[in-house]
Amino acid sequence: MLIDATKEHQGDPLIVKFCVLASGSSGNVAFVATNRTRILVDAGLSFKELQRRLSIIGESADCFDAILVTHEHCDHVSGLLRWARKFKLKTPIYVSRLTYSCIDWEGCQPPVERFQAGTDWTIGDIKVESFTIPHDAIDPVGFRFCAEGVKVGVATDLGYMPESIKYRLQGCQALLLESNHDIEMLKVGPYPWVVKQRVMGRNGHLSNHVVCDFLESEFDRATHTLVLGHLSEHNNHPEIVRMGAAQALEQRGLATQLVVAEQKNPTEVFRF
Ligand SMILES: [Zn+2]
Ligand SMILES: [Zn+2]
Repeated sequence: MLIDATKEHQGDPLIVKFCVLASGSSGNVAFVATNRTRILVDAGLSFKELQRRLSIIGESADCFDAILVTHEHCDHVSGLLRWARKFKLKTPIYVSRLTYSCIDWEGCQPPVERFQAGTDWTIGDIKVESFTIPHDAIDPVGFRFCAEGVKVGVATDLGYMPESIKYRLQGCQALLLESNHDIEMLKVGPYPWVVKQRVMGRNGHLSNHVVCDFLESEFDRATHTLVLGHLSEHNNHPEIVRMGAAQALEQRGLATQLVVAEQKNPTEVFRF
C-alpha cells in the first residue's frame, strides 16, 4: 500500500516564534507565538510604537491571546492601559495578584487573569510557567513558555541568579536574559550613590559579570539562541556585553547564537 507522505504535513508546519520587540530601561516588550496563539510579554511601549515594531517583523497588531506582565515598573507597563483600550478591552491581561493591586487601572476594566507567582497555566497551545525573581518590585516574575516541544525563557530585572532560576532556565531553546550593567561603568557613572546601590543589590539588576559567570559555568549548552537584554543606557555598552558573553561561550566551546537586544529596534524573529 502506498502511504501518502504529504498527509503528515498538511496544514502549516509547527513553528514557535520569539522576538524581543524592545529591551532596556526605557521599555520592554517580547513576542511569543505559535501558529495558533500570540502572546505579548510586558507593555513598555506606546501602542503606535508597538504597531511599528510588529509591522517590521511582519506581524499584525491585533488578535493577541494575552498580555503577560512581569512586574509593575514603568518600563514594563507604561503602555498597558492604552493597549488594553486599543484591543477593545478584549485581550486578557495576566498579572500576579499582588502586582495587580500595584497598578493604577484608572477605571479601565480589561479582562484580567490574576495568577499566583510560581504557578503554571495554558494559553491556547502555549504552556506558561511563572517563577519568582529577586527584584525590587512587589511580586516580580519571569516566564518560561513551552509549545511544540520548544521552550523559551524570559528573565530580566533580577538582582542575582538563585539556583531556582538557573533550574527554570534549563532546557530553553531561546533565552532572554538580563545583562544590565558593567560594574565599573556603574561605579563611575552618573547615578546617585543610593541608586547605584539599588542597581547592584540583590533586588536590583544583573551585571555583565554575573551573566558571564553563569555562561561559563551553568548555562545550558542545549540553548540555541541567547538574547541578552535590558541593558542600562548609561552604565553599559552593547559591545562590552557582546564581547564578554562571546568570550564566555567560547571558553566552553559553545556555538550558541548570541544576540544583544536593543531599546529602539526589534531583534530578528527566532523560529523553532
Ligand atoms: Zn524592574
Ligand atoms: Zn525593567
